[in-house]
Amino acid sequence: MADASLNPYLRAQQSFKEAVEVLGVEMAVYDLLKQPLRFFEVAVPVVRDDGSLAVFRGYRSQHNDALGPTKGGLRFHPDVDADEVKALSMWMTVKCALLNLPYGGGKGGVACDVDVLSDRELERLSREYIRAISLVIGPDKDIPAPDVSTNSQIMAWMVDEYSRIRGENTFGLITGKPLIIGGSAGRVKATGRGLVFATRQLAHALGIEFAGSRVAVQGFGNVGSVAAEICFQLGARVVAVSDKDGGLYAEEGIDVQKLLAFKREHLSLKGYPEAEFITNQQLLELPVDILFPAALENQITADNAHRIQARIVGEGANGPTTPEADGILFDKGVMVVPDVLGNAGGVTVSYFEWVQNQTRTYWSEDEVNQRLETYMAKAMIAMHEMHERFGVTLRKAAYLVAVARITEAMRVRGWLT
Ligand code: GLU
Repeated sequence: MADASLNPYLRAQQSFKEAVEVLGVEMAVYDLLKQPLRFFEVAVPVVRDDGSLAVFRGYRSQHNDALGPTKGGLRFHPDVDADEVKALSMWMTVKCALLNLPYGGGKGGVACDVDVLSDRELERLSREYIRAISLVIGPDKDIPAPDVSTNSQIMAWMVDEYSRIRGENTFGLITGKPLIIGGSAGRVKATGRGLVFATRQLAHALGIEFAGSRVAVQGFGNVGSVAAEICFQLGARVVAVSDKDGGLYAEEGIDVQKLLAFKREHLSLKGYPEAEFITNQQLLELPVDILFPAALENQITADNAHRIQARIVGEGANGPTTPEADGILFDKGVMVVPDVLGNAGGVTVSYFEWVQNQTRTYWSEDEVNQRLETYMAKAMIAMHEMHERFGVTLRKAAYLVAVARITEAMRVRGWLT
């Protein structure tokens, strides 16, 4: 039998099942949530620069749209497959419902290696993929966004292709666009910012003063570097950061602005003079108040969870903590801001982008950031209430909030008997 903790689809199903059982709602709810309502698998033919034809496999999963059109990113990665896309769309359902966004969960992707494609080939791939799924997406149906190895330029090509097919500019089709064609202020930094907002709020509830707290950040990509920068700006002591080549440690705290300038120049953290080198494993086990795993999945496992010394773990990555490790951290009293809240800042500002596109009015970055903070805070409160009511981890509590909301929507819509 397949190991549920390794297959993301089985893991997502298990989480929904537990939530349905704890809430005591009928099993029909689980039957509707255990698989996407709709799932598309498409061929994506791309003419290579040498004139040959390469055919890639593309996917789009629309998990549940009881609360509104489906929403979620598109990834271009060799590991993309049907089960992964389905699981990721289920996590999007949870994120959107938890944040109280009027959306269900979606996700898509193409199995490909962007490193071997030229810019022109990448553009053709992006356009062909959108053509292949154009009938099933739309601003009121399913709204894609960036994810692993996709960015605002790719979103621009995609919205252009869709607009050409429709014969009208349809900026509300996709989020994470460049600002000049309807992107939102604050979208690029939204995930890292949301992660810090949520974690700071939990720290406050636990009586930990955020300013002056000791912080370690694993991962220095879009989420980790922004989280480190904002922690630094808010007066936290960022004692360690890392990227895939290893980490940096400075007891007195790292000047993150200086480090960002160093990284821009050297394209790596390696060799930064004002800190000592540590490994990614050492970083995870440092005596800090707050640890942000913002790199890869399965970083905190049954092997190292008992050595984690942080009081709060703020998950920026998807699935950085295995289910076994979750149990160990819970028993140790370590609080985990789960990924479905921790990295939901991105989709929340995507929602703001879509609202701005639909209403043709645009907000300042301050306005976006303030609204983001309000949405994150409300989600945290709802999750915390479920945590106290049922005595479960914050992660399980997040699923309880989401499943309760989706169930209510499905019930009033008449989907349940
Ligand atoms: N790909 C991001 C996520 O997984 C953003 C999705 C969106 O903005 O729709 O949350």
